[in-house]
Formats: sequence, C-alpha cells, structure tokens
Amino acid sequence: MSMGMGMGVSAGVIVIGGGASGLFAAIAAASRGRRVVVLDAGERPARKVLIAGGGRCNFTNLAAAPEHYAGANPMFTRSALSRFSGADALRFFQDRGLAFEEMEPGRLFCRQGGGFVADILTAQCREKGVALLAGRRVDAVALEGGFAVTAGGERFVAESLIVATGGLAWPKLGALGTGYALAKQFGLKVAPPRPALSSFVLGPRSPFDGLSGITLAATLATGGRAFTASLLFTHKGLSGPAALNASCFWRPGETLRLNFVPGRTPGELLDRSAGGRELVKNRLGRFLPDRLAARLVAPPLASKRLADLTKQELALIAARLTAFELTPKGLSGFDVAEVTAGGVDTAGLHSKTMGVKAAPGLYFTGEVVDVTGLLGGFNLQWAWSSGWAAGQYA
Ligand SMILES: Cc1cc2nc3c(=O)[nH]c(=O)nc-3n(C[C@H](O)[C@H](O)[C@H](O)COP(=O)(O)OP(=O)(O)OC[C@H]3O[C@@H](n4cnc5c(N)ncnc54)[C@H](O)[C@@H]3O)c2cc1C
Repeated sequence: MSMGMGMGVSAGVIVIGGGASGLFAAIAAASRGRRVVVLDAGERPARKVLIAGGGRCNFTNLAAAPEHYAGANPMFTRSALSRFSGADALRFFQDRGLAFEEMEPGRLFCRQGGGFVADILTAQCREKGVALLAGRRVDAVALEGGFAVTAGGERFVAESLIVATGGLAWPKLGALGTGYALAKQFGLKVAPPRPALSSFVLGPRSPFDGLSGITLAATLATGGRAFTASLLFTHKGLSGPAALNASCFWRPGETLRLNFVPGRTPGELLDRSAGGRELVKNRLGRFLPDRLAARLVAPPLASKRLADLTKQELALIAARLTAFELTPKGLSGFDVAEVTAGGVDTAGLHSKTMGVKAAPGLYFTGEVVDVTGLLGGFNLQWAWSSGWAAGQYA
C-alpha cells in the first residue's frame, strides 16, 4: 500500500467486510501479488466463523453443489463451487493444522473449534501482507480515480472493490445493509433480504399448539422442494433441520405440506389384514408420539376399530399422516435466523469471477449475494468459493 498525495491509502484491492468470504477473497488476491486492504466494521474479523456451528464450525460440506442452494438461480453457484470445492477447502485448512470431524457424510466440523478457523484466516492474511483493519465501517463508495471509500476517518482508493458485507442475520454481530445499498448504487437488482435457516411461526390457533418438545422424522415440502429430517415442535411453531431447510424455499402465504410417516405408506401402517380389531389411536401410537397422533386424528375417529373405518375415513387418516397442509404465519426473524435469503441478483454478476457485469473492478461475494445454502456447511463453503473466485480476478 502507498500514500498518494492527498489521496489517502491506495491499494490494488479493497475488500469491504472481514468475514469468511472477504478474508478468503483477500487471501486469494494477495496470493496473486495484489496489495489488499480489508475494512471491517467490527472489533475483530471473522466473528461469524467463531460462533458457526455452535462454536464447532461446520466449515464445509464435501458434497456442496447447486442443489444445496436456494436463490433465483442456484446454478449460478456451479462455476465457483467446482473451481474451489469442499475438498479444496478441506485441503486448505488441513494443510494449516485443522483436524476435522465428519458428523454426517461430507459434513465437516473443526475439532479445534471456530476460533481455530478464524485464526487460520487472519494468519494467512498476515502472511500474505493483507492490511486487515477492524473498526472501519464503510458507508459509501465513490468513483474517483478508482473505488474510493472513507472508513474510520481515513480514505482508501483502489482499482478493485470486493463487497463481502454478509447478510442481515444476527444483527448483534453488526449485520448492516450496506452491501445491498452499494449493489443498488451500481445498478444491480436486490431480491428483498429475508430470514432463512429459521423456524416457522404458526401463530394462534395452530393445529400443533401444545406439542412443544416433540421431535420426529418428517418430510416438509414447500416451494417445489422437500426435506426429510428431524422436525421439532416448539412453543412457537416448527423447528429442527427439516423446518430450517424448508424455510430457505418458503415464501409468505405459501403452504407447507407435512408427511409424518416418511418412507412408509398409509396402506401398510393402517393394514387390517390381521383382523382390524385394534383402535385407530392405538395403531397410530405405534409409529407416532401419542400427543401428535391425538392431534392428527381426534375422536370419534380415533376411537374406532380399524376394521370399522370406511374408505373415506381411511383416506382422511392417510391424508392427515402424509399430506398435512398448513400455512405458517411467518418465520422467526433475523435475530435468530442463521442466514439471509435474497440479496444481490446473480443475473448482474459473472458466475466465474463474481464481478459485476456493468461495473468492471467491482465484485460481490458471500452471503450478500442471492445464494443461500442449506444446513450442513454449505454457507461457509459458498463464502470460500465465491471469495476465492473474486480473489483470482480482483
Ligand atoms: C449462529 C450462526 C451459526 C452459523 N453456523 C454455520 C455453520 O456451522 N456452517 C456454515 O456453513 N454456515 C454457518 N452460518 C452461516 C455463515 O456463518 C455465513 O453464511 C457466513 O459467515 C457468510 O460469510 P460472509 O463473509 O459473506 O459474511 P459475514 O461472515 O457475515 O461477514 C461480513 C462482514 O462484513 C462486515 N461488514 C458489514 N457491513 C460492513 C460495512 N458497511 N463496513 C465494513 N464492514 C462491514 C461485518 O462486520 C462482517 O464481519 C452460521 C451463521 C450463524 C448466524
């Protein structure tokens, strides 16, 4: 970096945001010999990496592919994910001392915790000569002989600008909407940010009131996608991995369809070949928690013998078990959501470089982009992949 005459600090690349994606972009650009300055609003960089995965940091998923992402065009992710894959992320961190634990196939956590991942990122920045400046909030960008920003009373100018400001989730970690405003300033469309990887709120008179604490495997379908995983009833609504993943594809007003007996057919569950003397509630109690069974099929139907059910009644019970429909009131807000869906429209970006088609030298990476990963390490992998892509060209 150098001090220009009255120009402030001049660099090759300015990165706004020292989170997962910004730091990775900075490391990649500095590895090519670029002079990089990272400006972060917080007191220390990589704060979300520290808390990710409940402190254990689910830093990647080896299976990461477009099908694990929501957004207007999930295929946009393909180029960056294939050029810096989950395996590449694993190698990068393993080469620097990380030991991993595979909790589910391909889903990797850091044994040493999120602090270790954050330390690798900041150590790499130091080694590559990146100027990593905390407590520097950027509010505006001007085009004056390059991209010019003022932060912490200091002026910075660079040929390239990478915006890696993250989303709006977890505002207590300083989530700001700056990245969206900058995108609009440069003519990009922004899909309205909304909470994702968030639990469903069902509102008053929910059919599941009072079932709080029950967990079971279920399939949740909405927005053309279906997820089979653990579902948890809470006092507010529905949570657990099945609900959190479905939240990425749900839009207000849409229905949610639940199958409480995934992988099994109502025909086999309500089988009457052994005589059908069993009461409906007893049969349901064999494969569903009693309190849920009672809510799905109430008396007098629940007190009938299987043998006495009419075809219509059998069909009704089957529908309650496998295709229970409801319209959630909403999602829990940004305070608790793990990520932000929506964001910078990928149609305005080159998928290979993350560069803005209409503004050479400007790049958007990470969560600020309209790319939302499912649970399982896909969001951090997108942060690495998109950051790495931009870092090759910025
Ligand atoms: C509780 C929690 C747990 C999570 N666990 C996981 C997990 O285990 N695995 C996984 O894959 N994902 C996880 N995620 C999601 C993942 O952490 C994020 O998707 C990822 O950190 C996004 O990276 P990013 O660099 O785009 O944004 P961020 O990591 O949010 O970084 C953005 C940075 O930009 C800075 N910034 C913002 N605006 C400005 C401004 N105007 N000027 C200067 N700086 C600015 C912020 O201070 C911040 O440091 C979790 C998220 C949460 C909230």
